[in-house]
Amino acid sequence: MPHCGRVRAVLIVQKYGGTSVGTIDRMKNVAARCLATQRKGHKVAVVVSAMSGETNRLLELTRQIQEDPNDREVDVIIATGEQVSVGLVALAIRAAGGKARSFLGHQCKIVTDSSFSRARIVSIESQPIKDALDAGEIAVIAGFQGVDEKGSITTLGRGGSDTTGVAIAAALDADVCEIYTDVDGVYTADPNVVPNARKVHRISYEEMLELASLGAKVLQIRSVELGMKYGVSIHVRSSFSDVEGTWVVPEEAAMEKVVVSGVTASRDEAKVTLNDLPDTPGIAAKMFAPLADASISVDMIVQNQAHDGTTDLTFTVPKGDRKRAMELLKDKVPELVGKDGERITYDDDISKVSVVGVGMRSHAGIAKTMFELLAKEGINIQLISTSEIKISCVIARKYAELAVRALHEGFGLGK
Ligand code: ADP
Ligand code: ASP
Ligand code: MG
Repeated sequence: MPHCGRVRAVLIVQKYGGTSVGTIDRMKNVAARCLATQRKGHKVAVVVSAMSGETNRLLELTRQIQEDPNDREVDVIIATGEQVSVGLVALAIRAAGGKARSFLGHQCKIVTDSSFSRARIVSIESQPIKDALDAGEIAVIAGFQGVDEKGSITTLGRGGSDTTGVAIAAALDADVCEIYTDVDGVYTADPNVVPNARKVHRISYEEMLELASLGAKVLQIRSVELGMKYGVSIHVRSSFSDVEGTWVVPEEAAMEKVVVSGVTASRDEAKVTLNDLPDTPGIAAKMFAPLADASISVDMIVQNQAHDGTTDLTFTVPKGDRKRAMELLKDKVPELVGKDGERITYDDDISKVSVVGVGMRSHAGIAKTMFELLAKEGINIQLISTSEIKISCVIARKYAELAVRALHEGFGLGK
């Protein structure tokens, strides 16, 4: 690549997920891949996750003492998985004849806010990484973790190493951020659920953002947001092969032709219903104020007026927040717990299935087709929400996989 009359070294960030560093042999494979990239003349910064299953194991240990994961000490514990991985991968690179240096979040330095278990990156002081790269070393950076202004260890939410990868790529002005995982790209549906799903070769940031937020965990949503904001080229590919994966890129004209580019399901939400509320101005504001004050994000909302002057309000919240949301509502709105019994019910066994595609902007009738396809399978729709490029339906959890397959087939996405 010509640059100021000289050939500029290409800088590549490679992020390896839990399965890709799941055993010592796989770490040796990662080391070999990093070295092969470096031997081509590139600078390589590698971001690694904890070994697969490790973060779950650590979280389970903390749960035996306390349920709430939003705690400084929980982050101290669950960040250790990545500390082990960076040390081992750095050792593996050295054992294979290369030069490597490991970096924890506080050494990079990845500064975040203090929202434990879901911290957001505020800044990265990347000079120590640049120094390592200039010295011909491979920088091996712990994913998922950061440090807040007080020096406390923080973590970025499940799947957060993707976000570390893209953030490091943005901070280093890298040429590409390669996300190595256990599938060889982004598919039209989770290939572990829909065996004939097709690999998408190029997908827009916007579509990927919707897919990620609606359940496709192949990329953490925040990583896509950062990629879009800083124009990082993201290449999702397999650590077990050399085949070209999926490029996440700005929208291209050809993408409009594909009406539905992906189908996904999320199981992370729960539904809360408030019955027989007075149908008067201000009632919704009154119900949602305590939730907003507690930073509980409400997703879908449906309000239904009855003929007798009352109204029912149904909404979804992240499943981990459902219990707290109900307690807050009962506490702050005593009318919800009247003499005639509670007016608040919930359902944790729901799933949100969604179809996504930028082509929806210019095509009508997608919602109708989606509803017909679900009806044909006898699946009842409980809630619906739409945006310009997606339609989501809440259904009973037990039908989630059936719904994804039926929609994938019905919209002709299979191989
Ligand atoms: P890693 O540990 O490498 O970060 P993840 O388990 O977080 O990997 O993400 C990869 C998984 O994402 C795949 O194994 C696959 O089951 C799942 N997935 C869900 N939806 C999709 C999709 N549309 N395309 C590809 N993978 C998907
Ligand atoms: N180890 C963390 C998790 O399991 C982060 C990641 O793998 O991306 O969520
Ligand atoms: Mg992941």
